Amino acid sequence: MQTFKALLASKTEAGPSFAWQELTEADLMEGDVTVAVSHTTINYKDGLALTGKAPVIRRWPMIPGIDLAGSVVASSHADFKAGDPVVLNGWGAGETHYGGYAARARLKGDWLIKRPPQLTAAEAMAIGTAGYTAMLALLALERNGVRPEQGPVVVTGAAGGVGSVAIILLARLGYRVIASTGRTSEADYLLQLGAAEVIDRAQLAGPARPLGKERWAGGIDAVGSHTLANLLSMTQYGGTIAACGLAQGMDLASSVAPFILRGVTLAGIDSVMAPKALRQEAWARLGRDLDKAKLAAVTTSRPLAEVGALAPAILAGKIRGRVVLDVG
Ligand code: NDP
Repeated sequence: MQTFKALLASKTEAGPSFAWQELTEADLMEGDVTVAVSHTTINYKDGLALTGKAPVIRRWPMIPGIDLAGSVVASSHADFKAGDPVVLNGWGAGETHYGGYAARARLKGDWLIKRPPQLTAAEAMAIGTAGYTAMLALLALERNGVRPEQGPVVVTGAAGGVGSVAIILLARLGYRVIASTGRTSEADYLLQLGAAEVIDRAQLAGPARPLGKERWAGGIDAVGSHTLANLLSMTQYGGTIAACGLAQGMDLASSVAPFILRGVTLAGIDSVMAPKALRQEAWARLGRDLDKAKLAAVTTSRPLAEVGALAPAILAGKIRGRVVLDVG
């Protein structure tokens, strides 16, 4: 029987241990679609899984990797046939179901999205969960009526994956983007992506006042904690902040003042269990609205074999933009 390479995580007394193994399709978990994986990626959450810093993996053994792109090799699902190009984000892949760090995956067809025709598999993974989440956040701002003419939009964790893609998307659609980063040395990079202004994240990192000066009509926050509280307190009347991340922390020491005195909306963004129709809308918009030259500018490519070394780097905030992993 044909074998393929997979990264297998096992639980040990000392924490998770990882080893490359040769598996066969018989080793895969249940599902109605088998996919030849050509590309995957590393997101912040993959970094947490691979370092054992958070209990992302909840079933053992596990193939990590919350994202994958490839083509269908076999399907008993009505919507997919052999050869179809597909993308998977989340749904427990790499957490409770074997994920993307392997050359083969067996998945539920209900989880899969047909890759938009404008995107290659590598581009889909340059987007990955980080970029798809940036689009979910943008859709939330649009649903809540945040339009370019209403004022600037702030993006936190700007040099990271969610932040970089969010800036590219917002700038293309005509928003004035304020990029908040701890890496002020990356200011030129952020301006090239389309940011109009770059601010030091230290301005937003301390405890928030109930209300601050109104600085933005909306925001996409990948950072949480005091940063999110400051974003809320500085949002202008009727604005919306889309919260998707926790790079600074999971806590939120805010006040109700922005909500009850300025009608501010806090929109929660979850990519993992997002319903299929919303995913399809997000991926269709990514195919249409994302500037691919700018996407290429934020992307580096590495072989999947290097993923172990990238995990601590992404948690340390040392990876700029997005990394595509070639499964080869
Ligand atoms: P990255 O590591 O690529 O980016 C995170 C960025 O956050 C860093 O690059 C850094 O940006 C900033 N940052 C890191 N540490 C701190 C800190 N202590 N205080 C303030 N800012 C900090 O990760 P992703 O872009 O992939 O993910 C971003 C966040 O979004 C993560 O928390 C992730 O878990 C979450 N996420 C949530 C999803 C959901 O479904 N809700 C889906 C995808 C991601 P800079 O250097 O510019 O300051």
